[in-house]
Amino acid sequence: MDELIFKAARQLSQSKYAIALTGAGMSTESGIPDFRGPNGVWTKNPDAERQAYQSYYKFQQDPKAYWIERMTGLSWLKDFSSARPNPGHLALVALEKTGILKCVVTQNIDNLHQKAGSQRVLDYHGNLFLLRCYHCDARFDPSEYDLPELLARDELPPCCKKCNGVLKSDVVHFNEAIPPDVAQASLEEVERCDLMLICGTSATVYPFAMLPRMAAEKKDKRKMTIIEINAEPTPLTREGISDYFIEGKTGVILPRIAGEVKK
Ligand code: NAD
Repeated sequence: MDELIFKAARQLSQSKYAIALTGAGMSTESGIPDFRGPNGVWTKNPDAERQAYQSYYKFQQDPKAYWIERMTGLSWLKDFSSARPNPGHLALVALEKTGILKCVVTQNIDNLHQKAGSQRVLDYHGNLFLLRCYHCDARFDPSEYDLPELLARDELPPCCKKCNGVLKSDVVHFNEAIPPDVAQASLEEVERCDLMLICGTSATVYPFAMLPRMAAEKKDKRKMTIIEINAEPTPLTREGISDYFIEGKTGVILPRIAGEVKK
């Protein structure tokens, strides 16, 4: 383990353009459960997974009903808004400050990378703390809308201030396309990077799980190092997509790597 941490630090220091891909495992140490880990929301409650698959369909069928359900049902937003970044998030900030880490592409919707202080974050699956126009993809801070008032006046859904389209949560639901701006920017980061640090993801959700595979395909043509940090092996480990796997908690391993890089 120590040897792999030294190796990762050395390779990061030598890299020209390192990026991190992160998943729900990054935030379990902040008290937000993942989906598919041993204590994951879906591991424990497969029904919740089936329900989640309905959200986008519900929005398309009846945006008003979607909004009423979001505002009156159980909200994740409350749980997530009190969550604080953990040492793993802070280690990625430290790596960005050294100039080594150029970007974090995250599947997480919890805003914790931004809260920690990471400057360049691509929210691949959207951000729970933003609204997005279904038509023009403009993002809005929810505080720009008096949602309780719209609910009380029976004026939901909220409408876009740019094009008057219907707003939804910025969160990308199942069966919803990745917003084109984020999808494109993420592809460009993968194209540019020479080191990819993959942290806390089961790498089973597509198209995100394509990103490490696309990076691996470049190995024949140019220098590319793929390092995986996770609590358990994943398909990337088993298929040899990652060059090596560091088993453990991101909140423990990443600060050790960042500490070595600083030395
Ligand atoms: P996942 O639940 O499929 O997999 C998480 C992986 O992280 C598992 O392999 C688990 O063993 C590992 N893990 C858990 N805690 C860890 C830790 N402390 N250190 C290292 N590894 C740890 O998550 P995913 O691959 O990101 O896919 C889930 C989808 O659900 C994503 O698309 C994401 O948008 C969404 N999601 C987001 C959040 C969040 O925003 N925090 C939480 C749950 C789910």
